[in-house]
Amino acid sequence: MTDDTICPKCGAALAEVSETPTGRKLQRCSKNIWNKETRKSDGCDYVKWLEVPPQTLDEKCPKCGSALVLAVTRFGKKMKKCSQGGWDKVAKKATGCDYVEWINGTTENLEEKCPECGKPLVLFTTSSGKRMKKCSTAGWDRATKTATGCTYVEWLK
Ligand SMILES: [Zn+2]
Ligand SMILES: [Zn+2]
Ligand SMILES: [Zn+2]
Repeated sequence: MTDDTICPKCGAALAEVSETPTGRKLQRCSKNIWNKETRKSDGCDYVKWLEVPPQTLDEKCPKCGSALVLAVTRFGKKMKKCSQGGWDKVAKKATGCDYVEWINGTTENLEEKCPECGKPLVLFTTSSGKRMKKCSTAGWDRATKTATGCTYVEWLK
């Protein structure tokens, strides 16, 4: 039995679970102290990444009809995939159903108006968790590869 609340590097207790903006969960060593001046951490640098269990969605796989799950990659990209999909580590190939749908970010309507054209703004969250306000008239013309509509964008911290 290993005690998973103890740092394997220095033996101190691990701090509480924290979450990154992209939804990944981690636990740092309690001896890890963030130094604001050097912008580096002092002390023990042990980080334990926690598995985020895939969330089962209320949607069915269009290929096989099984439930879809929401998965987050190591880089914080989100995708919906089939709960019947798997990965054979030995043969290095996918097993079961291979249905995957990448999620490219979400938009939410805002009450605010665009300062440039007066149309409503939307809150756009990218797949990596960055957020920006942009004009609801903004679009992308795939044929001419140019932005259409209003170009107002405000990135949020
Ligand atoms: Zn430690
Ligand atoms: Zn499927
Ligand atoms: Zn606008």
